[in-house]
Amino acid sequence: MTEHAALWNPLANDSHPAGWISSDAITLSNLIRQGIQPSPLMVCSGGTSSRCAADGLWTLDLRARHRQLVISEAGDEVEIGAGLSMAEVLEGLQTRGRSIPVGLSTLPGCGFVLTGGISPLSRSQGLAMDHIVGLRGVWGNGDCFELSAPVSPHEEQQKWRGLLGAAPFLAIVTAIRLRTQELTPLVIWRSVSSIQQLAIAIEAAEQWTHSASLQWAWNEKIELFIVCFANDHAAMTAVEALKTLLGQCAESSKTMVPGQHAQPPFGALATSTAAQGRNHSEVISRLGPAWGRRLPSLIADLNQLISKRPHPGCQISAQQLGGMSSQVAVSHTSFLHRDAIWKPWINAVWNANDEQGRKRSLDWLLHANTVLTEYCPGVHLAQIHPHLSFHQAELDDAFQDWLPTLNRLKSHHDPYGLLPPL
Ligand SMILES: Cc1cc2nc3c(=O)[nH]c(=O)nc-3n(C[C@H](O)[C@H](O)[C@H](O)COP(=O)(O)OP(=O)(O)OC[C@H]3O[C@@H](n4cnc5c(N)ncnc54)[C@H](O)[C@@H]3O)c2cc1C
Repeated sequence: MTEHAALWNPLANDSHPAGWISSDAITLSNLIRQGIQPSPLMVCSGGTSSRCAADGLWTLDLRARHRQLVISEAGDEVEIGAGLSMAEVLEGLQTRGRSIPVGLSTLPGCGFVLTGGISPLSRSQGLAMDHIVGLRGVWGNGDCFELSAPVSPHEEQQKWRGLLGAAPFLAIVTAIRLRTQELTPLVIWRSVSSIQQLAIAIEAAEQWTHSASLQWAWNEKIELFIVCFANDHAAMTAVEALKTLLGQCAESSKTMVPGQHAQPPFGALATSTAAQGRNHSEVISRLGPAWGRRLPSLIADLNQLISKRPHPGCQISAQQLGGMSSQVAVSHTSFLHRDAIWKPWINAVWNANDEQGRKRSLDWLLHANTVLTEYCPGVHLAQIHPHLSFHQAELDDAFQDWLPTLNRLKSHHDPYGLLPPL
C-alpha cells in the first residue's frame, strides 16, 4: 500500500478504496499471481474517470512509477509510461517539434489513448490509438506481455485488437509506443451561438472534407469550438465562410496556437455560473453518422433535454469525426464505429453527498442516452460503468459482434475477473 496523489475525478477522489498499489510490471505480475482481493482491481492512469478508484477496492496507481517519455532519435516515435498525462506527453514532444493527437483537454492520461482517443485533429490524423505501434503490460492473469503492430498470426492479431479499445477489461498497459506527428500550428475559432446557429454550423460541418472539425457544448449557453490546421487553406476558407454566416458576438474569438499543448479550454463559454461546491458526475459517450435531414428533430430533442436538466452542471456536447478516423479497417481495433461522424456525450452532474440529486441526474442521463441512441447507435467506451445498470447495454453497443471474441480473450487473459467485467 502506498501514498497517492489526488485524483482529478471528484467522485473517484471521494471514494474509500481498500488501498493503493504502485509497482513495476514484475512486482505487479507477482502480486496478481498471489491474488488481489476483493476484485475488480481499479486502474488509474490520468485519474480523470469516475471508475479509477472505488469504495472497498484496490487501485493500481500508474502515476508514480510509469513516467518515462523516450523519443526516438528521428523523433518519429515515442514511448510513454502509462502514468503520464497527455499534457506531459505533449510538453515532452513539443521540444522536438513533434506531437500526437490528443483530446479537448490534456488532463487525461493513457486511458484516453487506450479507449480510442478522439481528438479535434482526428479528421486529419485519426484516433490517438491509430498511432500505437507497441504495448507493454501485464494481462489480468499476471502474464507480462510486449506486443508490436502489426502482428500477423491470428491469435496475436486478436490480442492486439482487444487491447486497442478494450484494454481496461483485459490487461494493465504500463507503456505505449506511438508514432508522432509534426507539430503544426492550429487555428481555433470559438463562439457562443443560438440554437438556430448551432444547426447551421452542424449542417455546414457535415459537408467539410478538410481538417476542420466542429465541437459544441450545450449547457446554459451553446459553445461552438472549431479547430483546423493553420496551413490548410480549404479548412481556413470554410471556417471564414461559417464565421461570416453566423456573425460575431462578444464571446467570439479566433486564435492561432502552436499546437494542442496551447489549445484554449473547451466548454468554458457554455456556462457563466462557476461550479458551486463539490460535484460528482458520470458520462456516457455515443457514436453515430451524419445527422443530415434528422438534424431538426435532433435539435428539438436536445433542446428538450437541456431544458429539463436536473443540475446546472448537466451538459450535452459533441465532437466531429470522419476523414482519417474512418480510414482504419473495423477489424483492426476494438473501436468498431469507424463510420461515425459525431460523438455526442452526456455529462450528468450532482452535488456530492446528495443521493436524491444523484438519482435525478442518473435518470436524466439514462433518458438522454435513450433519446440520443436513436441518432447515434454506437457507444464510445471512454468511461466504463460496471457499477451502473446500463453497463451491459453499453458493451453491446460498443463492441457488437466482436463482444463474443473479446469474452473469449478475457476468459484466457483474465480468467478470474481481476479487471472490470465484460
Ligand atoms: C476534461 C476531459 C476531457 C476529455 N476529452 C476527451 C476527448 O476530447 N476525446 C476523448 O476521446 N475522450 C475525452 N475524455 C475522456 C477520457 O479520454 C477517458 O475518460 C479516458 O478513459 C480517461 O483516461 P485517464 O487515464 O485520465 O483515466 P483513468 O480514470 O485513470 O482511467 C480510465 C479507465 O481506463 C482504464 N485504464 C486506464 N489506464 C489503463 C491502463 N494503463 N491499462 C488498462 N486500463 C486502463 C481504467 O480501468 C479506467 O476505468 C475527456 C475526459 C475529461 C475528464
